[in-house]
Amino acid sequence: MIKQILIPLLLGCGVALSASALAKGPPKDNMIGGTLYPHGYTPMPIKNGVYPRVYVPNTEKLGKNEMRVIALGTGMPNVITGKQKASAWFVELGNGEKFLFDLGSGSMENLAKLRPDWHKVDKVFASHLHSDHVGGFAELYIGGWMNGRYKPLEFYGPSGAQPRLGTKAFVENQVKSWAWDIEGRRTGFPIEGGKVIAHEFNFRNEGVIYNKNGVKISSFPAIHILDGSVSFRLDWKGRSFVFGGDSYPNKWFIKYAKGGELVVHECFFTPENLGKLLGIPPAQAIFITSYIHTPPQAFGKIMSTVKPRHAIGYHFWTWHDIYDENLEAVRKTYDGPLTLATDMMVWNVTDEQVVVREVFEDENVAPTGTSAAYRSAKREPPSVAEKWISPDINAGKWKGYTPPPLPKPK
Ligand SMILES: [Zn+2]
Ligand SMILES: [Zn+2]
Repeated sequence: MIKQILIPLLLGCGVALSASALAKGPPKDNMIGGTLYPHGYTPMPIKNGVYPRVYVPNTEKLGKNEMRVIALGTGMPNVITGKQKASAWFVELGNGEKFLFDLGSGSMENLAKLRPDWHKVDKVFASHLHSDHVGGFAELYIGGWMNGRYKPLEFYGPSGAQPRLGTKAFVENQVKSWAWDIEGRRTGFPIEGGKVIAHEFNFRNEGVIYNKNGVKISSFPAIHILDGSVSFRLDWKGRSFVFGGDSYPNKWFIKYAKGGELVVHECFFTPENLGKLLGIPPAQAIFITSYIHTPPQAFGKIMSTVKPRHAIGYHFWTWHDIYDENLEAVRKTYDGPLTLATDMMVWNVTDEQVVVREVFEDENVAPTGTSAAYRSAKREPPSVAEKWISPDINAGKWKGYTPPPLPKPK
């Protein structure tokens, strides 16, 4: 009896409350220095170069010449877990610019934990089109759009040996395959944010492919299983980030990584480990690790030649035994500054120092929130959706439920 009375009361209350909350609108944007921060967070400058032991997202203000790099994914295509996603590297500069290098499978889950200003995560540089480097495409393209991006996603990547194997074809086919999803979201989300622009460049070329606001990004060839793997170098105000695409050790990387600050290169499994882990014959294990990838001793040799300010290796499962074996192998050929990266490691780079830490991670993350510019960006009214459901399906609407009325368009 009590239940029967309470339920309609609660339903009534709920509708009234949500309507008044909607009418009130969201609180004022927490916009600081042109970047949207989640409510309750104010980034503070680091004093005297002393950083907190762990990086709590959205609490630290980058210095004018500072660069922060976060490993969102360091693993492999075949086992994506909470512990290790596939390749993705988030680069943030003191001028407010943000860049993604790769967006491998599962990596956007780690990006969401940072609660970034999604509108500013709009530039991706893909080293090649393996799923462990671009498998998170839909999560960023569609998830980023729903989270606050109101301009097109800019996707940079190499050509292939044939047009069907290049970045342009990859992007076009992704967009086609998500047609149902994109079509249905037209009423809710900004029209421009639902677009993606493919910037395909020749995998063979060396040189600048991006040059804006003092940030230069160059591309140069890598040697992987097919034509169309590349590496990148970002330069800004004396800071640099070099990101190697999957590759056999190659001359271009040696040339472009020289004098680099943070230099990331794959540091794959030893043939013995890969053979054991995947249960494959020795010939295949040697071919995969040492002919289409770079095993640890070769990684060390590259870094000994390049002499970066700080070397970063990744692209293996960071289980204790494998981690130790890879580290031991690298140290046979390289004794300079080094991180073998795990997911959610952070590097802060200033004139004075390179600081290596971990992100303080939380699974209970809410969306960052959206900006006023996002909320007012042009979108289709709900009325366009009226004809999307066929009359016979519409006729099945249950009469026992009455939705709140839609506000009249302004
Ligand atoms: Zn890979
Ligand atoms: Zn690959």
